[in-house]
Amino acid sequence: MFPNLIQAAIPFFVFFVLLEIVLNAWRRIPSYQAKDALSSIAMGLGNVGVGILSKGLIFGAYMLVYQFRIFELDYVWWMWLLLFFADDFTYYWYHRSAHTIRYFWASHVVHHSSKNYNLATALRQTWTGGITGSFVFYLWLPLIGFPPLALVLMQSISLLYQFWIHTELINRLPKWFEFIFNTPSHHRVHHSSDVKYLDANHAGVLIIWDRMFGSFIPEEEHPNYGLTKNIETFNPLRIATHEWWQIFVDIRKHPRYFWQYLFGPPGWSHDGSRKTSAQLRAEQKSTA
Ligand SMILES: [Zn+2]
Ligand SMILES: [Zn+2]
Repeated sequence: MFPNLIQAAIPFFVFFVLLEIVLNAWRRIPSYQAKDALSSIAMGLGNVGVGILSKGLIFGAYMLVYQFRIFELDYVWWMWLLLFFADDFTYYWYHRSAHTIRYFWASHVVHHSSKNYNLATALRQTWTGGITGSFVFYLWLPLIGFPPLALVLMQSISLLYQFWIHTELINRLPKWFEFIFNTPSHHRVHHSSDVKYLDANHAGVLIIWDRMFGSFIPEEEHPNYGLTKNIETFNPLRIATHEWWQIFVDIRKHPRYFWQYLFGPPGWSHDGSRKTSAQLRAEQKSTA
């Protein structure tokens, strides 16, 4: 019943990862590290595995809301066009929230936990996003009347689009393309741990949302990738759960700050021992 584009695309993922390894070696771009790439692939496979279970939950939630739909939207071309923009707009806000609210970050951090930027990193996906409710951002779409099946398909297309932009092999594309679409250059900035690049370029397919809502930063010098504080592990289970565990530890130690530690920005701490990206930015400004 489900249009399983992601599973169908696995052979293509494998092919392009192998091709990139060869091309990178040839162009002397040192972006692959065997252990890191293997853990990224393990995260991707785990995501597909967990997805088999959580897809039912998510689709059920969409169907439930769809019962109360406001409009009757048939499978016609303009429905797909509207859905493309509505889905991409929703992805932008989901993704921006995943970087500013620790509860969602705990799942999304997985995708940012590699210090390398390559096509294997694209496969480094969350195991917990589905079951912890990242899909709530999308519930307004079936409520409007977009068929849940069409929505799930559009989300897969968006995810597939985001695969190829995880590469250092492509520097810049034609200006008009860089203006409208998310590209390797824009997404390299998104994966950077450099303070000047933090919390930028949350786009899925269209970069226009970042330009519209003030989160666009162009790529200037070559970014450093990963987290501001890297986790130094290749263990998939630890990659999938480390931030959840840290939230648990923080709340157990400081129950007074339950809400801030769960729903505050990533890096928030009651005693300043860790820093949010806004604090890191302010710090850099004051020392500059
Ligand atoms: Zn992100
Ligand atoms: Zn990415």
